[in-house]
Amino acid sequence: MKLLLMGPPGAGKGSQSKKLVEAYDLQSISTGEMFREAYKKGDPMGEKAMEYIRQGELVDDELTNRVVRERLSHERPDARFLLDGYPRTVNQARALDKILTEKGTRLTAVINIVVDKEVIIERMAGRRVCRQCAATYHTKFRPPRVENVCDACGGDLHQREDDKPASVRNRLNIYESKTRPIIDYYKGRGFLINIDGEQSFEKVFRDIQRALRDLT
Ligand code: ADP
Ligand code: ADP
Ligand code: ZN
Repeated sequence: MKLLLMGPPGAGKGSQSKKLVEAYDLQSISTGEMFREAYKKGDPMGEKAMEYIRQGELVDDELTNRVVRERLSHERPDARFLLDGYPRTVNQARALDKILTEKGTRLTAVINIVVDKEVIIERMAGRRVCRQCAATYHTKFRPPRVENVCDACGGDLHQREDDKPASVRNRLNIYESKTRPIIDYYKGRGFLINIDGEQSFEKVFRDIQRALRDLT
């Protein structure tokens, strides 16, 4: 199984990807995570990516495609994975097609989590992330047991620089202009699944599971 999880920033991709990875025994491949990890390690690729990320801009296609190609080069054609946050441009979607075709494989399904702009803004404003293990919380919808402390590892919670309101608006505009067109790209190929993301964490997950069951 090779899944792709799409949706605007704050749609709940990270939250759902965690559950999907466990339930279906998938490797999680998140370009956003890869960039942040590389940056933490002081890797030049991460430094370069972070210059874009801080501004709420997309990292350029060339660099992003290179990182994904390198990551997937270690995988066998039958590898089971979930891509979260990649592709984000039609150019990247084409690059991914090419990478998979060269491996003699293809995507199983593209899951598109649909949420309205107002919901996104509220979700982004309350998102808090663990500095240590990257677990994600929400001040209102998924508060940690102790304020600002990670349930999982005891680490500090913080707000990502690019989750501040100015950057969020920019990211939403970019989503509309650059990323949304991918939906049509995949619709045309017949493996698009739309999921209503404005439901509880559990209901969204159940809907995804049902859609995947219907597929097979
Ligand atoms: P993405 O990876 O798509 O940007 P996240 O999974 O990080 O989205 O979710 C964004 C924020 O919204 C997080 O704070 C998360 O806890 C919260 N969130 C995600 N899904 C839901 C949901 N179904 N209901 C309420 N809050 C949610
Ligand atoms: P979110 O879950 O909030 O949508 P991510 O963690 O996926 O955010 O990504 C954070 C940032 O990393 C993005 O705003 C963007 O700047 C950069 N990024 C991640 N994936 C890509 C990609 N496929 N192409 C370009 N930039 C990316
Ligand atoms: Zn933690």
